[in-house]
Amino acid sequence: MRKLAAGNWKMNGTNASLSEVAALLKAHPAPACEMLLCPPAPLLSRMADVASGTQLRLGGQDCHAEVSGAFTGDISAAMLADAGATHVILGHSERRAVHAESDDMVQGKAKAAIATGLIAIICVGETERQRDAGATLDVIGAQLLGSLPDGASSATVVIAYEPVWAIGTGRTPTLPEIADVHLFLRSRLTSRMGADALEVRLLYGGSVKPSNAAEIFALPNVDGALVGGASLKAADFGAIVAALSDAG
Ligand code: PEP
Repeated sequence: MRKLAAGNWKMNGTNASLSEVAALLKAHPAPACEMLLCPPAPLLSRMADVASGTQLRLGGQDCHAEVSGAFTGDISAAMLADAGATHVILGHSERRAVHAESDDMVQGKAKAAIATGLIAIICVGETERQRDAGATLDVIGAQLLGSLPDGASSATVVIAYEPVWAIGTGRTPTLPEIADVHLFLRSRLTSRMGADALEVRLLYGGSVKPSNAAEIFALPNVDGALVGGASLKAADFGAIVAALSDAG
């Protein structure tokens, strides 16, 4: 399986930020891992111009479950694909919390994304209160099974484990805690999908940075990362890409 370093720019970046993408591509023209950036939608097609002819893949940060219609402010999977995306992040904790997205909604969006030919990066993760209450695996198991569409395969979905309390905080779970959750995800996926579950990429996300990337990528069942803040700077994201490439 090809590992995946995915960057989520969230609501950050303008035209001027495209110079970071050019710098990233100059420093890492042919990484051993797959490299993906998910910019705000208005930047997608211009970033696609910068990425044209390179190995960099692009993704959206959300999509609507419908193909088109009266949904002011929303973006369909087909529009993302048309702008140059091959992937879309779905069910990010910021969408689940701020936009009250349920597992059902995430599943509907994932179906639409997959029907359009996009790879759905489905995010799951517990809050700090849920972890403290010992409910981490229950929460993640329910999110995973509730958000994953029937018929999903390693070619159509990527799962990102993102503890909510680790996102943008500089805090991370311990390495054994990450390994436990990823093993759990693999086993839940195996029950649901059979042998193909071994090929589903499981990303860790939450305060991944150059200084902690290598130790996280050395863990079993960690097949890459979903990176927020550190994906905005070519030097930091490039170092994470290099660490993942070295992890083999
Ligand atoms: C994220 O937003 O998906 C994320 C993991 O953010 P950060 O790397 O900044 O914690």
